[in-house]
Amino acid sequence: MALQQNGIVSKQNGDTSSHHPSTNGNGEIQHDRAEGFTFTSEPTLEDIRRMQTEFTEERNWSQFHKPRNLLLALVGEVGEVAELFQWRGEVQEGLPDWTEPQREHLAQELSDVLIYLVELAEKCHVDLPQAVLRKMALNRLKYPASKVHGSAKKYTEYKD
Ligand SMILES: [Mg+2]
Repeated sequence: MALQQNGIVSKQNGDTSSHHPSTNGNGEIQHDRAEGFTFTSEPTLEDIRRMQTEFTEERNWSQFHKPRNLLLALVGEVGEVAELFQWRGEVQEGLPDWTEPQREHLAQELSDVLIYLVELAEKCHVDLPQAVLRKMALNRLKYPASKVHGSAKKYTEYKD
C-alpha cells in the first residue's frame, strides 16, 4: 500500500518472511522467524499525527477528539484487537495459521490503536518519539540485562 497523499510515499516492505512460509534446508516449513522482519521507515509518528489531524479537521471532528474521548476510543480499539485473538489459544509468531483476510483485519485494528495513541499523545502534548527514548533508557536501568537475562520477574522481585 503506497501512501502517496500528503507527500508521503511508503515503500513496499520487501521482506515477506513473516507473511509467507519458506522452507529451511530440511524442507521443513518455517513461518515464524522474526529476524528478517522490519518495519518500513515511513510514515513516521509525526506523519501519522499530521495525517490524522487532516482527517479530523476535514470532518469537523476535532471538537470531539479531546483527551478523554481519545483514551476511550483507544481502549475500544485495543478491545477490537483482543477479539481477534480471543479463544484461539496461544498464537505463534508470524501468525502461521491465520488467513490473509485475518492478517489484514489485525493490521487494520492495530493501526486504529496506533492512530488513537498518536492523537492522544498529541492532545496531551507528549512528544511520543522522544518520550519513547526516555522510557527505554529507564527500562534499561530498571532491568539491567546482566541481572534479568532470561527471567520474567517484575523489577521489584530482584535483589541487588
Ligand atoms: Mg477498529
